[in-house]
Amino acid sequence: MITARPVAILQDNYAWLLRDSATGATAIVDPAEPEPVAAAIDAAGGRLDLILLTHHHGDHIAGTDAIRARYGARVVGARADAHRLPRLDQPVGEGDSVTLGESQGRVIDTPGHTHGQVAFHFPDGGVLICGDTLFSLGCGRLLEGSAAEMFASLQRLAALPAETLVCCGHEYTESNARFALHADPGNAALRAYAEQVRVLRAAGRPSVPSRLADERAANPFLRAPDVARFADLRARKDRF
Ligand code: ZN
Ligand code: FE
Repeated sequence: MITARPVAILQDNYAWLLRDSATGATAIVDPAEPEPVAAAIDAAGGRLDLILLTHHHGDHIAGTDAIRARYGARVVGARADAHRLPRLDQPVGEGDSVTLGESQGRVIDTPGHTHGQVAFHFPDGGVLICGDTLFSLGCGRLLEGSAAEMFASLQRLAALPAETLVCCGHEYTESNARFALHADPGNAALRAYAEQVRVLRAAGRPSVPSRLADERAANPFLRAPDVARFADLRARKDRF
């Protein structure tokens, strides 16, 4: 099975260190800052098999070539955005598989934040790598896609098993909680979850991964009942 650990990089980004427990095969997700990423890989044994890229933004891909050169890992990213990603050894799209040791990840196309955004779901271990599509208590901005595309992408992620661990690209949870509490003040599950997040962050700990069950209960962007309501919520968050 796959285990996932966040590696804090840049201002508020997370790279994710994935490990297949049967074989020790290791992957890094979105290694935008080489030094802390290499330190985390070396601390875990110095093995790197794969680099997984969620989307083309610099705060996700910047360190890719340096990490590839250092470890010789294979780079996996969206075929649809190959022209603006680092050189891909395995271009992928909807439904493709990614093999890490004895574990398989499935690629889910999740357009909205960017055109070629992809998520990776590893059922064995219940790990979802979702980049800047789904955040804890929030979602990515609509920089390239429509509200309808983003809503559909989020609904697909929300349909994964409840115990799925949501491994997103940024530590935005506390600021997302402020908007979520403003948008959905009567939600007791949200209030309880926001308090847990406050305690974790006050202790200097990451708020993620979160559980998909908690996101379904507390994340206003997953609770929007239709595209129109989702689009309204996203526009209000942009101005908040
Ligand atoms: Zn982004
Ligand atoms: Fe980002």
